[in-house]
This record gives sequence, C-alpha cells and structure tokens, in this order.
Amino acid sequence: MRAPTNLPRPHAASLWRAMAGRVPTMDAPVSTGAPLARDLDVEVAIIGAGYSGLSAAHALQQRGVDCVVLDANPIGWGASGRNGGVVSSKFRLSFPSIASSHGLDVAIRMHRLAHDGVRAVQSLIDEFNLERARFEHTGSLRCAHTERALASICAEADWVRNTLKDTSMSVLTRAQIEHETGSKGFVGGVLSADAGTILPLEYVRGLAAGVTARGVPVYESTPVIDMQRADNARVLLRAPGGAVRAKQVIVATNAYSNLTDATSQYHRELVPFRSAMIATASLPPELDARLMVNGRSYTETRRMMKWFRKVDGRMLFGGRDAFGKEGELTGFDALQRAMVALFPDLAHVPVQYRWSGYVGMTFNALPHMGRSDDRTTFCLGYNGAGVAMASLIGQHAAALALGEKPELAMLAQEGLRPVPFHALRAPGVRLVAAWYQFLDAVGA
Ligand SMILES: Cc1cc2nc3c(=O)[nH]c(=O)nc-3n(C[C@H](O)[C@H](O)[C@H](O)COP(=O)(O)OP(=O)(O)OC[C@H]3O[C@@H](n4cnc5c(N)ncnc54)[C@H](O)[C@@H]3O)c2cc1C
Repeated sequence: MRAPTNLPRPHAASLWRAMAGRVPTMDAPVSTGAPLARDLDVEVAIIGAGYSGLSAAHALQQRGVDCVVLDANPIGWGASGRNGGVVSSKFRLSFPSIASSHGLDVAIRMHRLAHDGVRAVQSLIDEFNLERARFEHTGSLRCAHTERALASICAEADWVRNTLKDTSMSVLTRAQIEHETGSKGFVGGVLSADAGTILPLEYVRGLAAGVTARGVPVYESTPVIDMQRADNARVLLRAPGGAVRAKQVIVATNAYSNLTDATSQYHRELVPFRSAMIATASLPPELDARLMVNGRSYTETRRMMKWFRKVDGRMLFGGRDAFGKEGELTGFDALQRAMVALFPDLAHVPVQYRWSGYVGMTFNALPHMGRSDDRTTFCLGYNGAGVAMASLIGQHAAALALGEKPELAMLAQEGLRPVPFHALRAPGVRLVAAWYQFLDAVGA
C-alpha cells in the first residue's frame, strides 16, 4: 500500500495563510507537526483534522476516551482553514420548508441544532482562549437582490419569529441595508443576530493546539491509505509511517474524502462544489469607514450566492464557482466583476489574494451523519455552512461513536447513501450552475 505522492499539500495561498505567516499566531506548536511514525492502539481514531474532527477529539478527551487525530495535510489545509469565516445559525433548507415537509416538531429540533452550532463555536473559543480567532457575534445580514427574494426571506423571518418564537431575526429596509453595506445593489434584507464572523485558520489551529495541549495526539502529514476491519473488534488504519488499531473510527474528511482510496467511499455521499474567494488590498480610509459599518457577515439571495465581509480594512468576497478546479485561476475575474457590480467604488482597489476550496453539497441540502457500520461513524456535507455546524456535529459524532444517542433530527442517517451517478457529478454540477446563473441573470 503506497502513499499518494501528492500528499501532504501546502496551504492554499489565502489571506488567512498570509495573516498567520506575518504574525506568529500560536504560543505553542499546533501539534507535533510530525507525521505518525509508530503503531498505536486507541479507543477512537479520527480521520481529518478540520472543525469536525477536532471538535470530536475535544468531546472524546472531555469524556476521558483515548483518541488520536490523523490528517493527510497540515492543520487547516482543508475547508476549515480556507473558508469565509461566516458563522451562521441556519441550514440551506429553510425552517418553514422543514416544517411543511417534516412537521413542526422536526423544525423546532432543527432550529435548536442550528443555534447550538453557534453556541458550540463560542464555548470552544472560551474554553481554549482563542482570542486570536476573533469570533465576533455581530450577526449576519441576508441582502435581497429582488423584491421577490425580499418577500420570500421576510416571510421566512416572520414565520421563525411567530412560530418558533425566535426574536433574533429582523427585517431591514432598503435604506438601512444601503447604510449598513454601502451598496445600492439590494432592496432590503433580514438580519440574523445569532451569527457572526471568525478568522477560520486561527480557529482550526487554535482547536488543534487546544486538544494537543490536553494530551490528544494530532498527526499532520499522515494520510490514511488503508482502512480494514481487523480482529479483536478493531479497525486497522494504515498510514505511511505507522498503523493505528482503534475500536471506533470517526471519518471527518468531508469534501476532501477522495484524497486517498481509504476514505473515498465517503466522497460518494457528496457533490463537491468549488467555492472561491478574493480579498482586496487595504481599502482607502474613506471607503473603509463607509462599507459594512457594523462588521457583520453578509450574504445575498442569488442562487449562485455571493457573500462578503471586511477583515482588517480589506474586503473579502466569495461565491460558488462550479466551473473551475481547486487551484485554477478561472472564476476569480467573474468574482471580482460581481464585487464591483455591488460596490462600484472597489473598481480601482486591487485584489491581493485569490483562493478556493471544495464545499460538500448533499442532495437534501443538509449535513449527513451516522454510522457506516458498527465501528465507523461519519459526519459530512455541511453545504458551505460548516463553521458552526461542524463544530457541533463533531461533538455529536463523538457521542455516536461511543454508542450514545445525540439529538440529530434530520441530520441522522443510517448507513451511507451514495449520490446516484456520482461519476457524472462534475458535468452535472456545471449544468446546474449554468442554469442557476441564467435564473439569477433574468431575476427569476
Ligand atoms: C472557500 C470556502 C468558503 C467557505 N465559507 C464558509 C463560511 O463562510 N461559513 C461556513 O459556515 N462555512 C464555509 N465553508 C464550509 C466550511 O469551511 C466547511 O463546512 C467546514 O470547514 C468543514 O469542516 P470539516 O472538518 O468537516 O472538513 P475539512 O476542514 O475540509 O477537513 C477535512 C480534512 O480531512 C483530511 N483528509 C481527507 N482525507 C484524508 C485521509 N484519507 N487521511 C487523512 N486525512 C484526510 C483533509 O486533509 C482535511 O484537512 C466554506 C468552504 C470553502 C471551501
């Protein structure tokens, strides 16, 4: 069994990477930084050291369970180190639509899970003193690009307020949105107060440092290249430098599950969708003072959604971009054009950072978690909203692996359910994206 020659890989050339490089961010090493170089026998082995895997490790450590985390790459190489840092308390499926298809009780439980995600981030930040991750509970503003879209998100906010008694959502007028964002591109919007922003790479590195300091070994540059059921009720994981025998395994590899054959069956649960981001140079002081005055995260209502925020006086702008591959430069010019269309004043501000990564989309637009057999638990498919949810779901994966029954509402899944015609996912995604772009363009 040979290790893939393209692993480990360097971090994406993101603003987060540059910020982490300029200022030495960790008081202690993130982890041993070294690959696994011996054999281990543990209760639970976790594959993947993003938010999912590390929050699972933290939950296990708190229960006194002997565990280890293995990642093919440096900490934060995956989506957890390169995302937009929008901390949100929602799923891609709206709560009214969940209530109409699955009943009010399920909608209430899903609503609780969504807000528990934000609490999970806050409590990890507090517990490990992660000030450098700069979690700011400033809220998230959903900006409507048409009257029709505004009517739809206002109706949803009313329903959540009246039916779920959630007062954290409020409607903002066109003038308020213009004042907040500095853009004339929106007709109104809805503010969700229980949301905010974070520095994603600092957060994941802080989690890794935190669990390492509590005695959980986190091995970087350690691809799991083989996973087999073994005797003595164990699973045997093989990495290039050693093997791990574990009673239980948690697979937390999400949209990067196809890095090796050992985890690729989990990739077939998902349709990976490329998500791209740009960050400008520092804004001129006058613009900095006028754009996004409340420092929230901002999303819009187009199907091919864009989102934006400010970090240290720079504009960050992200969007779904199904047309390129990770690492390719396609899509960034279109993203910059979309940014300038909303913020014409940015036309002459250079873009300094461009990066992308894969988000794990699922057919039902919800995360999936469960057991693929009696010794293996999986959690994946955050549909581009995993900062808060993966921080929570990782803890629930730990509970599931120990035989507990955490509240998962619609996220629970029995066994794996591969996406049909998975091999056709790339052309399929391009087709759907082109259709969405057409609908957005005609304002449908
Ligand atoms: C560009 C972008 C922007 C995003 N913006 C936001 C946002 O603003 N807000 C939000 O909520 N969500 C956002 N997301 C989604 C969010 O980042 C993810 O949902 C979340 O980080 C998933 O965390 P994870 O731990 O499950 O997976 P990851 O962080 O991707 O970690 C998986 C890890 O598994 C490792 N791995 C894979 N296979 C193996 C193997 N065989 N052996 C060992 N290790 C393996 C990988 O190296 C990787 O480090 C964004 C995603 C991207 C890509």
